[in-house]
Amino acid sequence: MKKGKHLYWGEEIKAELAHLEDISQKRHLFTTESADQPWLLINGRKMLNLASNNYLGLSGDERLKEAMIEAVNTYGAGATASRLIVGNHPLYEKAETALVNWKKAEAGLILGSGYTANIGIISALVHRDDYIFSDKFNHASIVDGAVLSRAKHQRYRHNDLNHLEALLKKAPIEQRKLIVTDTIFSMDGDFAHLEGLVLLKEHYNAILIIDEAHASGIYGEKGEGYAHHLKLEDKVDIQMGTFSKALGSFGAYVVGKKWVIDYLTNRMRGFIYSTALPPAVVAAAETAIEIVQYEAERRTLLQKHAEYFRGALADFGFNINGSQSHIVPIVIGENEITIKVADRLQKEGIAAIPVRPPTVPENEARIRFTVTAAHTKQELEWAVEKIALVGKEMGVII
Ligand SMILES: *Cc1c(COP(=O)(O)O)cnc(C)c1O
Repeated sequence: MKKGKHLYWGEEIKAELAHLEDISQKRHLFTTESADQPWLLINGRKMLNLASNNYLGLSGDERLKEAMIEAVNTYGAGATASRLIVGNHPLYEKAETALVNWKKAEAGLILGSGYTANIGIISALVHRDDYIFSDKFNHASIVDGAVLSRAKHQRYRHNDLNHLEALLKKAPIEQRKLIVTDTIFSMDGDFAHLEGLVLLKEHYNAILIIDEAHASGIYGEKGEGYAHHLKLEDKVDIQMGTFSKALGSFGAYVVGKKWVIDYLTNRMRGFIYSTALPPAVVAAAETAIEIVQYEAERRTLLQKHAEYFRGALADFGFNINGSQSHIVPIVIGENEITIKVADRLQKEGIAAIPVRPPTVPENEARIRFTVTAAHTKQELEWAVEKIALVGKEMGVII
C-alpha cells in the first residue's frame, strides 16, 4: 500500500478490521431488551442474564425510577453546564452528603462514569517524572489514566506484592508515587491484597487509590466496599467506585480527605471541562446509596448465590481462575473455541459473552459470568446444568 494517497488510511483500517475477524477478536453490537431483568431478549431469543453488573438488582427498582422521574420534573433533563459553571444542581449536595455519611469519609464528589473518574483522578495526582504502580489486571480506565498523566507507568504482576516492592525500591525517593488497584478484579473476580498494599504504601510514602467498582454496595456492613469490609478505609488515601454496577444506575464517586477532594475539584479536567450529570442520574445515585445501606439482605443473597455458583462450576471441573466473588469466569483458552462455547450456551438460553484478548491475557479467553441477587437459586441451578452439558460436549471439561 502506498502512503500519501487519500484512500490509504481507509484501506489500512479495513485491513485491521479483517485481521481482528481472522483472529476471532472482532466485536459486534447486539441489542438486549429488558436489560434489568434476569431474563433478556437477544435477537428475539430469551436468555438468562449472567452477564450484567446489576449485582443487587437495583436497576429495575421502583424507588430509583421514581426518584429519577421526580428529578426530571423538578430540574429538567440536563444539567445545562459543568458543575463549576451553573450545573451544580441541588441534588448534588444531597447525594454527596449521603455519600460521605455512607462511606464515613471527610469529603466526596460525584463524577461522570467510572471511566472518566479514573482518568481524571489519576492524571490530576501524578505528572511527568512521577511514578504509577498499577496491578497488571487493573481496569482499562486506570491504564488510560496512567497514560494521560505522563507519569512513569509500572505494571506489577497481578497481586504480586514482591514484584511491586521491587519496583517501589527502584523509584527515586523524592518522586511522587501512586499505587492503584481494583479491589475486586473485573475479569477474575478475585480480591486485591489490601493489607499488604497499605503496608507498602506507608513504607514507601506512596498514595494508595482503590477502585471499588465491583465491590461498592456488596462488601462492608453497609455495602461501603471492600476496604470497609477489612476495616482499612482510613488507611487508603482515595476510594473511588461507581453507581453503574451494584448501585443500579450510572456515575461514579471519589472520597477522601477534604483537601484531596478540594484539590481534585480544582485539577480534574474531566470534572472541570465536562457537563454535570443529569439531575435524574444524581437522584438515582442518592436513592441507591440510601437503599444499599439498609437492605443488607440483598448482599447476603448475592453472597449465597455466588458461593453456590462458584462451587458448582468448580466441582464440574471448570477453571474458575481463583474467583472469590460474584464474578465467576470459566477460562477456556483460545478465542475460537471460546466463541463456539458461548454460541452453544446462547442456543441453550444463557446470555454467555466471550471475553477475549486484549481484555484478558492471550490464550486465556473465557466466559465471564456474573450472578446477582435478582436471580433465583433455581435459575442458577438450571444454568449450571446447561453450562456443564455444553462444557462436556465441547471438551472444556471431562
Ligand atoms: C466498570 C468499571 C469501571 C468503569 O465504570 P463505568 O461507570 O462503567 O464507566 C472502572 N473500574 C472498574 C474496576 C470497573 O469494573
